[in-house]
Amino acid sequence: MTENWVSKKQKCAICGNDQKHVLFQQQFSKLSIGSLMNGYDVVICQSCGFAFADNIPDQTDFDLYYREMSKYEHQDYAGEPSEFETRQFPALAHFIKKYIPTSQARILEIGCANGGLLNALKQLGYLNILGIDPSPVCAQNAEQLYQIQVLTTALSDINVEIGQFDFIILVAVLEHIQDLNGSLQKLHHLLTPAGKLYIEVPDATKFTSSPDAPFQEFSIEHISFFSPISLANLLRAHFFLEVSSTQTSYNQTDTHTGHAIRMVFQKSNINKKFDPVKDFETEVELKKYIEASQKVEDRIHKTVNELVDGQQPLFVWGVGTHTQRLLATSRLANAKIIAFVDSNPNYQDKQLNNIPIIHPKKLVGTSEPILVSSRIFQSEIVYQIRFELKLQSNIFTLYEDKIK
Ligand SMILES: [Zn+2]
Repeated sequence: MTENWVSKKQKCAICGNDQKHVLFQQQFSKLSIGSLMNGYDVVICQSCGFAFADNIPDQTDFDLYYREMSKYEHQDYAGEPSEFETRQFPALAHFIKKYIPTSQARILEIGCANGGLLNALKQLGYLNILGIDPSPVCAQNAEQLYQIQVLTTALSDINVEIGQFDFIILVAVLEHIQDLNGSLQKLHHLLTPAGKLYIEVPDATKFTSSPDAPFQEFSIEHISFFSPISLANLLRAHFFLEVSSTQTSYNQTDTHTGHAIRMVFQKSNINKKFDPVKDFETEVELKKYIEASQKVEDRIHKTVNELVDGQQPLFVWGVGTHTQRLLATSRLANAKIIAFVDSNPNYQDKQLNNIPIIHPKKLVGTSEPILVSSRIFQSEIVYQIRFELKLQSNIFTLYEDKIK
């Protein structure tokens, strides 16, 4: 992969305005290869109130990143869904079902990962289904696990010759997309005249209600911070009519609740001047989130400082946004880190801050302490260290957990 990403100033994707103010400057430490950027500005459009990441690379750079660095493959489990997904896919399929006109409807899921949701729809009797995902491993997994066809492509590269669909699904996709306008034009094209679109994105007005690690919601991959108002504005700007809107919460892990917006839209050809509804809520909520994150981060930095001052060699488990931000903003880079540990096979043989990234299995036989650098997966990682790898090493965690 190239290291020559160029970050650019963005206009508001909803109203086209280039007047915006910065709420927060996010920073990441770069992986040896495979990092997209070393930070971005979280900005608010002064005209419509939409919150997004500014100074980021182009869509083509993001497409390359997702093709090579997919962490949605679950390679350790041959693509099988996690316990939480196993419960969520059928429930979501039932929710979506009432908006799909007939069992013969042609359904497309964009960013379908291993096809778990499409399989849940197949179980409900929908057979005319297709997925697309940028990772080639996902296509193989969907075929092997569910006999579902998945094309390996990014939304921006979909060939319109695949025809039109009656129903298109995007779950946890739109917040990753840099070229929102190009993508929505394409979606409009891919839908039949009265076709419907199901969109699910994280709810930026609820970031404070589901506390992840500090500033984790401003991740390397999430670059739009939608509220129900801004999501509806964006879709109305592209001639979609709102059919339904729900704010919902769901269990991400034993200890973590996520909040999402679920909206259904219908394609229309009404071509009148678009006037966005001003979103006042997002800025207020993001400011609360930033303040709450700062408090937690101050506490974490104390723990990191103790580890650095102790000068004891240690492993750091996790190389995602959480660790890349700690390396950029705390003294963690000064700790005696032997190696970073991560189960994502796409990280293996790569380096972070010139320190190797190793698979958890390589920890067997070691006794040095391990710093767990994750909030939502903290208890899973602790479990893995103690009960799967059976290590007696000292474990340092950064967060209180209900379950340990
Ligand atoms: Zn705007």
